Amino acid sequence: MRPLDYRRASSVDEAVALMGRPGPVRLLGGGTNLVDLLKLGVESPTLLVDVTHLGLDEIDDTADGGLMIGATVRNSDLAADPRVRERYPVLARALLSAASAQIRNVATTGGNLLQRTRCVYFMDATKPCNKRVPGSGCPAIEGASRELGVLGTSTECIATHPGDMAVALTALDAVVHYVTADGAATIGMDRFHRLPGDDPSRDTELPPGAMITGVEIPPLAFGPTSTYRKARDRRSFAFALASVAAAVQVEGDEVRDVRLAIGSVAHRPWRARVAEELLRGAPATADSFRAAAEAEMAAATPTEENRFKVDLVTRLVTGTLLELAGGGR
Ligand SMILES: Cc1cc2nc3c(=O)[nH]c(=O)nc-3n(C[C@H](O)[C@H](O)[C@H](O)COP(=O)(O)OP(=O)(O)OC[C@H]3O[C@@H](n4cnc5c(N)ncnc54)[C@H](O)[C@@H]3O)c2cc1C
Repeated sequence: MRPLDYRRASSVDEAVALMGRPGPVRLLGGGTNLVDLLKLGVESPTLLVDVTHLGLDEIDDTADGGLMIGATVRNSDLAADPRVRERYPVLARALLSAASAQIRNVATTGGNLLQRTRCVYFMDATKPCNKRVPGSGCPAIEGASRELGVLGTSTECIATHPGDMAVALTALDAVVHYVTADGAATIGMDRFHRLPGDDPSRDTELPPGAMITGVEIPPLAFGPTSTYRKARDRRSFAFALASVAAAVQVEGDEVRDVRLAIGSVAHRPWRARVAEELLRGAPATADSFRAAAEAEMAAATPTEENRFKVDLVTRLVTGTLLELAGGGR
């Protein structure tokens, strides 16, 4: 038995101050990831600080026509919000593709962003893992890697960010708001999650002791023409093998603008900048969608077990863009 204290924070400042206490301290959102990791012995905090009673459960319109989502807005509530469904269907669909209704009813926006990888070596405290125990090695590279990364991997780690919501938020250029002992700050989703490099223990660029307070989504005129597609082993209640978040603006037969992010292929949601660049001004056809996807995936460094993801992503991207562009061309 390990001693574990629980405190319900009554303000953001109190939560941040408690994070400064000695011993591993963790903020508790819905607990759907953290509590599992406690049971597995992957996380062993001495104090849990519950942040779900701080009034951060609102979704507000911003002055410029975007949305500000409080950190403890539940995944179900976010997916059901009429403004999200209308302006950013990619986000509603990503959320609804994730986990189960029961988990979505509990999981929070902040906790979802910070969910840990599902790499089996990370989740098994008896195995080496550079992310869990720096310097212990990465058995996944030569081992069970079917679900793991093919882009931006390193010799230290090939884990993926497994979530769906963050992929949509990356395509939407969302901005994470957080507070530390030094005050409030923001970080864009394109820099929020990091690549593993030589320090896979860090999933994000969030400073130590930070509490996420909200996520801001800027307005996107062609947001209504957006969607999320997810390939997985089961039709529900399964993490993605690969996923695509896309928004497209087509004028005449040409792509005028596009947002594209790929999920479950890298240590962070992968913003497909190479493909986006090729697509702007290109004909809105299956050929150009496929060529852009292939160009993005040219940088892939798959293992034998996950080589299939390169073709899977190419097909997912092509099909998703075709659907958004009106299909059939
Ligand atoms: C069976 C199962 C299937 C799942 N399938 C999917 C899926 O298909 N797709 C998908 O995307 N997800 C899936 N999930 C993961 C699920 O979405 C996450 O567990 C959930 O979103 C985490 O949110 P939470 O509020 O419960 O976080 P918690 O478990 O409470 O916290 C997660 C992490 O975030 C930190 N944290 C929480 N709130 C804050 C904050 N405000 N500021 C800073 N740090 C904070 C915690 O300290 C912890 O480190 C699945 C989970 C399970 C158990």
